[in-house]
Amino acid sequence: MTLEELDLKYIWHPCSQMKDYEELPPIIIKKAKGIYLYDKDDKQYIDIVSSWWCNLLGHCNETINNNIKKQLDKLEHVIFANFSHEGAIELTKQLSEIVPKGLCKFNFSDNGSSAVESALKMSFQYHYQTNNPQKTKFMCLDGGYHGETIGALSVGAMDLYAKIYKPILIDSIRIKSPDCYRCEFNKTRQTCDTECFEHVKKEFKKHGKNTAAIIIEPLLQGAAGMKIYPAKYLKKLREICNEYKVLIIADEIATGFGRTGKMFAFEHAQVSPDIMVISKGLTGGYMPMSITITTQEIYDAFYAPYSEGKAFMHSHTYSGNPLGCAAALGVLKVIKDENILKIAQKNAKYLNENINLALKNHKNVGEIRNIGLINAIELVLDKDKKIDFNPKDRVGYQIYKKALKNGLLLRPLGNVLYFNPPLNIKKDEIDKAISLCLKSMEEILDK
Ligand SMILES: *Cc1c(COP(=O)(O)O)cnc(C)c1O
Repeated sequence: MTLEELDLKYIWHPCSQMKDYEELPPIIIKKAKGIYLYDKDDKQYIDIVSSWWCNLLGHCNETINNNIKKQLDKLEHVIFANFSHEGAIELTKQLSEIVPKGLCKFNFSDNGSSAVESALKMSFQYHYQTNNPQKTKFMCLDGGYHGETIGALSVGAMDLYAKIYKPILIDSIRIKSPDCYRCEFNKTRQTCDTECFEHVKKEFKKHGKNTAAIIIEPLLQGAAGMKIYPAKYLKKLREICNEYKVLIIADEIATGFGRTGKMFAFEHAQVSPDIMVISKGLTGGYMPMSITITTQEIYDAFYAPYSEGKAFMHSHTYSGNPLGCAAALGVLKVIKDENILKIAQKNAKYLNENINLALKNHKNVGEIRNIGLINAIELVLDKDKKIDFNPKDRVGYQIYKKALKNGLLLRPLGNVLYFNPPLNIKKDEIDKAISLCLKSMEEILDK
């Protein structure tokens, strides 16, 4: 049997209709370096989506590799209740210096969804233990994505992932989200005054009293199609949340670590969330690790004699895993030593200018939106009327397959193609990715 056949015999791949694999078998990757993946026949692919947005600094980065190798011979894992280790201590110390102001206590999990679960439980329990037991609800934005465990799905508002599970999900309050490309107030990004914030106001008036927390993806709704909304929205959200004593959970799993041009997206709004969740870029895509970070005030509401039963009884076996911490320390070292945020800002400008030059005038490109290095290309059937393609045609998927043939890993969200490359991508690699993207688009759309 070939590797592909063996794969299909045993493996149920994530987020896939396995029947699609009849036509597009799994691509067996043998090795990777920087932005390139190499399959078993040595064909190379540009990984322009950072392998599910986590590969922050390219594949097989020497500094991160060495950090993990060194750690491996010292300590691979230790129970994290009552025990600790240098890596976790050093990592949280360094993170405390770069996270938004006020965030100072670090609770480890091992994937994004689990860290979201931790944040939800923490918010509920915080209110319960500070004489607000009526605050039991969660709010979220339409199109929001926070992971795929039951709790995370309950505050996710993308039918694609959640619809079938509705009967077993927690009922949360969905707020109509900003949609800047198709603004219902007929504003543009330039003329916007966050008119759509009135949807938030309306729901707070109705449900604010009973709401424990609102969870959001700051500035960028990733899975919804890389939808980008203004920082002013977060500022207003901070104000209304203060008024109603609703906690803000910032899901920075996708936006953290320089993806939006600043270390964390919330910095653009110059306010802080009450809880921030990070994963993905945290270990540069090396090890499954996530952290739920909160304030002294929330932490203090759990701090009491054991007999009062106020502890946060939440744990994951791999909490604070030393290899994960070593990877994360490697990421922070590269970011600092190589001045990565500066480089990313330059790259972002170059990528955005050139992607616009190459693609903007194509008849099916409705909008190219960008934040940091993230550039999303929304494909539409009719540009003037912003009419979508028929989802049944799976135009994005056709382009995805074509791009793979051409040596580019694009993996669109519906009909939104996007670039979300490592922050240290090189200019010639950007050029190459853009031209492969255009070629793949033309092969499908202009035939
Ligand atoms: C990826 C992601 C998650 C889920 O993280 P997993 O590690 O896949 O569970 C949650 N929120 C956002 C914004 C994400 O991008």
